[in-house]
Amino acid sequence: MQFIRSSSAAAATACMLALASAQTFQRLDTCKSLGCILPPDQQDFLAGQYFDIRLEVHAPVNGSEATDGIPDEGFTFTIGKLGGEAKPATEYFEVEEPVIENWDFQWYEDLFARDAEKASVVNVASKAYRRVALYEPGDYVATLTYNGSETTVANWHVRDIEQVRKTKNVLLFIGDGMTTNMITAARLIAHKTINGRYQSTMAMDKFRTIGHQMTHSIGSFITDSANSATALYTGHKSSVNALGVYADSSPDSLDDPKVETIAEIFHRIHGGKVGIVSTAFIADATPGALTAHTRDRGDYGAVIDSFIHGIVNYTWTDWSGPDVLFGGGAENFCSPDLGGETYMDLDYYKVFADAGYNLVYNASELDATSSSERTLGIFSQSNMAKWLDRQVYTDNLNGNEDAPNCEGGDANAQPGLKEMTLKAIDILETRAGDEGWFLMSEAASIDKQMHALDYDRALGELLELDDTIKHSIQKLKDLDAYKDTLIVITADHGHGFDVFGSVDTQYMDAQETDREKRTAIGTYEQSGESQYMNTGSLRYSDSNFPSNWEPRYTLAQGFGARPDVRENFRVHKDGPRTPATNVTGFPEDDYFVNPEDGIGGFVMNGSLPTDAAQGVHSLTDVPVYASGPCSEVFGGTYGNIDVFYKIAECLGLSQVPAAGEYGAQKPVKGKDNWGKYEKEKKYGYHHYSEKAPLYCKDGGSK
Ligand SMILES: [Zn+2]
Repeated sequence: MQFIRSSSAAAATACMLALASAQTFQRLDTCKSLGCILPPDQQDFLAGQYFDIRLEVHAPVNGSEATDGIPDEGFTFTIGKLGGEAKPATEYFEVEEPVIENWDFQWYEDLFARDAEKASVVNVASKAYRRVALYEPGDYVATLTYNGSETTVANWHVRDIEQVRKTKNVLLFIGDGMTTNMITAARLIAHKTINGRYQSTMAMDKFRTIGHQMTHSIGSFITDSANSATALYTGHKSSVNALGVYADSSPDSLDDPKVETIAEIFHRIHGGKVGIVSTAFIADATPGALTAHTRDRGDYGAVIDSFIHGIVNYTWTDWSGPDVLFGGGAENFCSPDLGGETYMDLDYYKVFADAGYNLVYNASELDATSSSERTLGIFSQSNMAKWLDRQVYTDNLNGNEDAPNCEGGDANAQPGLKEMTLKAIDILETRAGDEGWFLMSEAASIDKQMHALDYDRALGELLELDDTIKHSIQKLKDLDAYKDTLIVITADHGHGFDVFGSVDTQYMDAQETDREKRTAIGTYEQSGESQYMNTGSLRYSDSNFPSNWEPRYTLAQGFGARPDVRENFRVHKDGPRTPATNVTGFPEDDYFVNPEDGIGGFVMNGSLPTDAAQGVHSLTDVPVYASGPCSEVFGGTYGNIDVFYKIAECLGLSQVPAAGEYGAQKPVKGKDNWGKYEKEKKYGYHHYSEKAPLYCKDGGSK
């Protein structure tokens, strides 16, 4: 779906393109007909999981699907068990009939239409049923009838999951963008082999249960970190950029139909404690998707607000904030007078402090802080510093002006993923009691540095994740919590990275032309053995990392999806890499080889559109490792949504009614039509009376 958000109201001239189906751009990726049900066909649910339903009837004004342009507002919607009686949704869910909403949107049917600026305009009539749930396992049929006799059918399935809690705690590690190929490369540079035999292995290698998960989005086969996180946390497929919602076509990114997340369900049903740790800015997609519900992962301010207040603009579940929130991203906490961009222009450090959180801003404060308080730790302005810069090329942190107080100064005492995760375990274990805890710990910059084609930094981040796993296991054992903790390690998607040999960097330097330089790459028997081990001196004290990042023979490694790039296959000692840049005289979205990058290497033509400055995600399945109670269910090959259902099964979150206990429905509890802000943006709570309260969001939709 490519919405045109900036266009004037000028109607595009009709263009009959006679497309069989849209692919590059889609009218709405979940809706192949003119009647749309969200959640769409083929979606699964956890019994008792809250969700919203959005119905849309589309009336295209022009283009290959043109109608009279008047959307049917008399549509009807029924739901019933497969083979059973279907009832109107209001009767089925015992809710009031929602009001009709109207809007219009524009989209391009394909690249030719975009080039010709021939947009297709669609008028929409819609209704949204908020916070409903299905409790009985089995197959359901939801039917939207519109334009007289046309129908759209969604087949839904409520999984029959045993309601026995099998683990007290869950520690979920996400290596963002991490693939088996990257784990293999990281192992090669950090662990020594003799005659092809590893003398030590990664912490992940010691896990006995391994699975593979397929990462497709709902309407595209390549995923991003937003909809993949949504799948992992909610069991529902979603669209690129969407967090905890099915993306609708409305102009407001925050009114899309929500699905309840693992953190919300765990908190609601068991009162369990939740911890969120990431090396990204904490409003980023992977941490944000645990509590945020928006079609636009760029709603950073609203994501931060959702961490502490949950969803308050629509009827939804109660949420009282995580017990641990650690990461970067002061830019969405500091008030605007310090340069921050926050929700409703608030100082979110103050919002968290007022709610009773301890606040910490650097590694020593983190180490010293009490483990008995709810704690917010923000350690840099945006993404946190990389392991390679914190531990090896430490001068790169000088002058970063990254201090989390937003008042200038450097953030050169940032903790790593290990320090954050170990403290988070301490706090959760101290505070959780019998209810247990759920901790998500993300190594975010595996992905971010792979995007920048900075393989060494990405592998450093991956090795830091592995080191964190190793020390977390020891920490749990020390606290006598290891036997109660399911540990799951996975990724949200991959990148097309691999190692294909080694590079004699001295020989490459001595060659004149690009074609000659390519002879420095040694394949098969000429690849030799890893040279990253056991030379030089260690600044850091652990054996799980390379001791030499600048050997003569480096890895020949790379990427299928790339901009134009020059590769010299050497570590980027001056800080994270910028492989492609603009060139004077060309448009700003036209990227070429960065003239200052990869000096001495050879140029490789890009494989991506020329407006791409970085690499992109790829199709590959990603690994799942599991240990501890209930870990046996994680073996095999399955979809990313199954990770949610497996964790939910292990935590006993399925709510199937006992025979005769109640019918298909039981009263849901939570917040009812609460809105936080008056339209004049005064801070405070306000009870909306409308059936479909309008969210008052600064600046409108993105
Ligand atoms: Zn990414």
